[in-house]
Amino acid sequence: MAIKTILSEDKLPTRWYNIVPDMPEGSLSPPLNPGTGKPIGPEDLSAIFPMSLIGQEVSAEQYIDIPEEVYEIYKLWRPTPLIRALQLEKALDTPAKIYFKYEGVSPAGSHKPNTAVPQAYYNKEAGIKRIATETGAGQWGSAMALATQMFGMECTVYMVKVSFNQKPYRRSMMEVWGAEVLASPTDRTQSGQKILAEDPESLGSLGIAISEAVEDAATHDDVNYSLGSVLNHVLLHQTIIGEEAQLQMEMAGDYPDTVIGCIGGGSNYAGLCFPFMRDRLAGGKDIQFLAAEPTACPTVTKGSYTYDFGDTLQSTPLMMMHTLGHDFVPPGIHAGGLRYHAMAPLISALVDSGNMDAVAYTQNQIFEAAILFARTEGIIPAPEASHAIKAAIDKAVEAREAGEEKTILFNLSGHGYFDMSAYDQYLSGKLEDYAYPEEKIRESMEKIPKLG
Ligand SMILES: *Cc1c(COP(=O)(O)O)cnc(C)c1O
Repeated sequence: MAIKTILSEDKLPTRWYNIVPDMPEGSLSPPLNPGTGKPIGPEDLSAIFPMSLIGQEVSAEQYIDIPEEVYEIYKLWRPTPLIRALQLEKALDTPAKIYFKYEGVSPAGSHKPNTAVPQAYYNKEAGIKRIATETGAGQWGSAMALATQMFGMECTVYMVKVSFNQKPYRRSMMEVWGAEVLASPTDRTQSGQKILAEDPESLGSLGIAISEAVEDAATHDDVNYSLGSVLNHVLLHQTIIGEEAQLQMEMAGDYPDTVIGCIGGGSNYAGLCFPFMRDRLAGGKDIQFLAAEPTACPTVTKGSYTYDFGDTLQSTPLMMMHTLGHDFVPPGIHAGGLRYHAMAPLISALVDSGNMDAVAYTQNQIFEAAILFARTEGIIPAPEASHAIKAAIDKAVEAREAGEEKTILFNLSGHGYFDMSAYDQYLSGKLEDYAYPEEKIRESMEKIPKLG
């Protein structure tokens, strides 16, 4: 049987951990205004974000208190369980201990409400009535719909058209929680109109949907924009995962040698691993950090570490990060949450400074791992999270071959109950593996802005 460690309520962490002051010296480069090439100031962001979140985005404080109103909502599903995957260990015949932190118990089914709730809260405090945001596979849109509903706000979700058509139940979920869901590109924004004029059949992309949501927010006073990953304040909110996991590992009498997660924009993995990274950077602990991504969108394993835009239509500040080029549209893999062209600057800097490694897997590899996990631990994982499972399995097999008693911890970022058609394809042998889209990435990389 699996061993489940739950924290009692009086032990819950009450602060988020901000890794910025602990980052290796000189490893961070400021976001730049694309017009002037100079570092941006708070005023560059104030049209779309409240000052409180801008403050967190640039904060040098090591800890930030979680507001009580946010905690009251966190308690609907937090603390999440830390589970020792004994059946999986047995199936792999490994001496390694495998633990996972399960974020799929939130109402939306992933880690994303950890930041959607505080983002809605701070916007509400600032007098904002409506949030405009984008969603790919629907996970982030669901989380934001839930969060805005909890604070009596409105929500408009620009949902990438291909997912809008493929995932009607994700859309229904957002509508149940009161959001308006639009298939992006729409004809409501200039960004959407521009794309549709070039290609009326466009199936959209995350980069396009971001452009639309940002424009909606920038052109309405009482509307703000909200991003589900990549930015410092988003990663900050997710550290509740790792802060809980540290206390739970302590209760279990263990400490990880390897900390693993999947990376789309980097937020769930940052959430789990930053508190452990603190132990490495400040405490000199010897821990391996391993991030897993798809071969179809190999941002960290194959991308460049350079300044680029966060969206297709170049409306965001330039950020120093791993990127495949802002107009790169990855193949339609089922791990929709990992189809982003770039990576959180904080994750990128940790890879660049040699504190974190990355690995890439194909769809069939990750579904094979997902099935083994479902058949041993019971939970049917999200395709995104299955990248982390695959990496954990590989590490456990490595430990078996080396005869080492390693302790592995990974983040199970969400369940896969809305992804059954993908499982269906895998089980019927129809799941496609995409070759590394080298040519498309090369074309896209030529359009990365040249600075100075
Ligand atoms: C969105 C999503 C991801 C990828 O986003 P990150 O910011 O990299 O965490 C991973 N897993 C699940 C279940 C998601 O919904």
